[in-house]
Amino acid sequence: MAKIRIANSPTSTISLPAIGHSSRTVPCTTAGRPTDQTRSGYIGHLHRAGYAGDQRYVAKVAAVVPTVTKQIEDLGLASAFSGINAPALTRLAILIGHNDVAKGAFSPHLLVSEWDYNQRVAREMQAAASEFGLEPRVFFRDRNRRGYATEIAIAYAAIDAWDPAAIMELHFNAGGGTGTETLYWHSSRNGKKLADAVREAILGELDMRDRGSRARRSGDRGSTSLRASAHPTILTEPFFGDSDSDCDRMLEVGETGLARAYLIGARDYFMS
Ligand SMILES: [Zn+2]
Repeated sequence: MAKIRIANSPTSTISLPAIGHSSRTVPCTTAGRPTDQTRSGYIGHLHRAGYAGDQRYVAKVAAVVPTVTKQIEDLGLASAFSGINAPALTRLAILIGHNDVAKGAFSPHLLVSEWDYNQRVAREMQAAASEFGLEPRVFFRDRNRRGYATEIAIAYAAIDAWDPAAIMELHFNAGGGTGTETLYWHSSRNGKKLADAVREAILGELDMRDRGSRARRSGDRGSTSLRASAHPTILTEPFFGDSDSDCDRMLEVGETGLARAYLIGARDYFMS
């Protein structure tokens, strides 16, 4: 890992993979050390001192710096970042609600089922997750002839085998209401924290009506999923697919906006 000084943060250094070069810490005390504390001076020094065999080393390192700086800001770690390595990504399991046969509710306004819509959202989450310090993995339910409970148990066993820090099962609501709710297992303290953080992020990012975080017990809708894993688990119901006004709002923000809200909520939970 090469230590790179951030131009606008003279006391901070960050570690980057050495591009086109073997991984090692570059000493700062050799002849030809940078004449100032600027980023260009330092990476120029790396190049002149022969640490980079790749002719395009300087350009490659410079290209990575803005991305990493943005990630540090997103994580809210800029002030705490003093010469330590970036934290490892936190595992977030995403389960697509329903299955490819019974696809959940169909929105007459968005013209899509829960099953198809939430796969779009999950793809957007995967694209942006690293900016939020998250490593997502998407899981699916396979229709099982032995019934619903078996189908849920198999899906959550696969998730548990990956050992995520939290689980989000994605849905949208239907049945004549409007607004956002999140569901959690009634006795899971962390499940409630996750449900609150994700719901607040949805409300803040998408400006939906608040229906609250809702505790679920045995026999309630969603309870089979919510008690399937020892990891904190929530079901998301960000909007009503049969509500004109909710769907208008979702068309404005798109799957990208909802994915971003989910990632913000998960990050806020992990950092709380
Ligand atoms: Zn559903």
